[in-house]
Amino acid sequence: MRVLSSNMDKTAPDPTVAAITGQMELSVRDAAASVLVALLFGFLVRRWVKRTPRVMARDTRRGHRWSHTGMFSQPSYCNICESLLMTSRGAFCDACGVCACPTCVRPANKQLTCKAVTSREASHKHHWVQGNLPFDSTCEVCDSSVGDSPELTGQRCCWCHRTIHDQCRKNISEVCDLGEFSQYIVPPTCVKVRATTTVPRRLTVAQVSRPATSTGAGADKPWTPLIVLGNRKSGSTDAEQVLSAFRRYLNPAQVVDLGDQRPEDGLEWCHLVGPERCRVLVAGGDGTVDWVLNAIENLKLQPPPAVGILPLGTGNDLSRVLGSGEAYVEVDPEQVLRRLQRAEVINVDRWLVRGWSLNRP
Ligand SMILES: [Zn+2]
Ligand SMILES: [Zn+2]
Ligand SMILES: [Zn+2]
Ligand SMILES: [Zn+2]
Repeated sequence: MRVLSSNMDKTAPDPTVAAITGQMELSVRDAAASVLVALLFGFLVRRWVKRTPRVMARDTRRGHRWSHTGMFSQPSYCNICESLLMTSRGAFCDACGVCACPTCVRPANKQLTCKAVTSREASHKHHWVQGNLPFDSTCEVCDSSVGDSPELTGQRCCWCHRTIHDQCRKNISEVCDLGEFSQYIVPPTCVKVRATTTVPRRLTVAQVSRPATSTGAGADKPWTPLIVLGNRKSGSTDAEQVLSAFRRYLNPAQVVDLGDQRPEDGLEWCHLVGPERCRVLVAGGDGTVDWVLNAIENLKLQPPPAVGILPLGTGNDLSRVLGSGEAYVEVDPEQVLRRLQRAEVINVDRWLVRGWSLNRP
């Protein structure tokens, strides 16, 4: 605390001015201290938020998840201007399958809704996407071929993957049962999210409820949501393709890119749905699998979730021993999901081996 001088000679400063100056210096110091405390508090809160495991999801209401390509695997049409994209550059949404030429990407974000992570609807409904059906598609209603004409015709539900003629849509129920792989899917009607303040356009999955038997898995198929973990930054493009392929079949939030999130964040699904239900598919090599298994152990998940491996690395020793394959071959998610349905869950011991050099002094 400053003390005002009692010396009133002419060279001495005016006590009133000195008092004001003193108060100003005090208030500047107080303000600086407040800013420092606020910065420190913000830093600690951010660190705490970062360390708390949470499932992050892209807010699909803000637009599609575009993958840009110079070559489509089959003749495809822009969902906005209906131009043929076979030989020209374009983009497709790896969640819902909407396609767009470069100039129609923005309009598509505004006009066409993407596969929802969450929904407030009472029941889950089909989400029909126009055109670009696989060659061998059959109409669910009239059982004849659909989507084989050279234009943007026919529709496919991006959840159950059923296909229909445009004119047959009025003859199919609105309610979607999520199809053949419903046991692995978390319906958006069961997901509650909250906005994330630290990362723009991201949502945090806050709560998951069990689906009703009319939507999702029935009594004959226990509901065992599948979480797919892979790292697109692992050095090859395979992981990105695998993650992209599984977003088409699952709730997009169930596919976790370890290039953006930690395994602990993805495994938070196990807390949300129950570790005994959760199935985890790791797309990667031995290093990625080990990373995820360590996270399961660190989180002390009981019982530990069943883990499947989709081998993408070069070694793949664990995958080979467990009969999950030796190397990446182009992945058909439907085949992988069917193999998982038939797979048997077995217990595997893990050992920690410490070594040291015999030549150590
Ligand atoms: Zn277009
Ligand atoms: Zn989309
Ligand atoms: Zn459907
Ligand atoms: Zn039909």
